[in-house]
Amino acid sequence: MNNRYSRQELFSPIGKEGQQRIYNKHVLIIGAGALGTASAEALVRAGIGKLTIVDRDYVEWSNLQRQQLYTENDAHNRIPKVIAAKNRLTDINSTVDIEAIIEDASVLELETWAEKANLIIDATDNFETRMIINDVSQKVGVPWIYGACVGSYGISYTIIPEKTPCLSCILETVPLGGLTCDTAGIINPAVNMVVSHQISEALKILVGDWDSLRNKLVSFDVWKNQYTSINVDKLKNEDCPTCGIKRSYPFLSFENQTKSAVLCGRDSVQIRPSVPVVRNLEALENLLINQGGIVQRNPYLLSYSVDTHRLVIFKDGRVLVHGTKDITEAKSLYHKYLG
Ligand SMILES: [Zn+2]
Repeated sequence: MNNRYSRQELFSPIGKEGQQRIYNKHVLIIGAGALGTASAEALVRAGIGKLTIVDRDYVEWSNLQRQQLYTENDAHNRIPKVIAAKNRLTDINSTVDIEAIIEDASVLELETWAEKANLIIDATDNFETRMIINDVSQKVGVPWIYGACVGSYGISYTIIPEKTPCLSCILETVPLGGLTCDTAGIINPAVNMVVSHQISEALKILVGDWDSLRNKLVSFDVWKNQYTSINVDKLKNEDCPTCGIKRSYPFLSFENQTKSAVLCGRDSVQIRPSVPVVRNLEALENLLINQGGIVQRNPYLLSYSVDTHRLVIFKDGRVLVHGTKDITEAKSLYHKYLG
């Protein structure tokens, strides 16, 4: 055996035994953007046994400044993020079982993935998905680690079912920055600071060192030099619809699953088909070429540029319409070109 984990095993709270525990665990990361790539790399280097990483998007040039697993080649070829991430992660540690899922983290799927995992790491960019993760975590009894950042600000909190308040509990009292879409930009150190907090907590959970968990909501601004740690234990609410005595898991209900959404901080709309479909991208390419515009295809998606818009069609039927924030306009483009 090589000694790749020797320094981690010398760290006494982990040790050889903890290292083996980490190897026996499965972590689910929702999102493969800045937070997701940094978390994934840290866990893969630490020797996690299995990692599932989910993301609906492909690599773009504006990602390269902070999304640490991606290269210019990935952006040039519009490789789906999780595929590019898996390739890089496998180069880093070939012993880890890495499952890459190119999908939207919607309710049904999330529940299925979460049931198989020991821990969920939040690396998403939107409020809706976080509330679904929060409900799913309580329903299947798997902890999750909330993390968000915007500009130079970051925030993180660890949620353990049956022990800590959940995100719904604290949401009513604590204003959570970074939860909504923001175009304030982002700097890399804010990302890494959030990830450092998330992964430290993750390692404690994975080795079973529950007493060492932070138990506080932490937030900071690395530009303004502010660091706050808030005890939110008292906010656990017995009437909480997610973790209270009578639970309804409001974000898992059908009405709350939107089919179309304007993407966070971008001039883009995502449209999901109302029934599951599998697109034949090759046939679609031939069809679209005849309608004018520029068609580019890779094994995972097809990009169609026409006038000032670009439609990106995934195999699972999902379509990203770039060049608009207007859902009605996006839908009419969708129907015009894709039926
Ligand atoms: Zn709650």
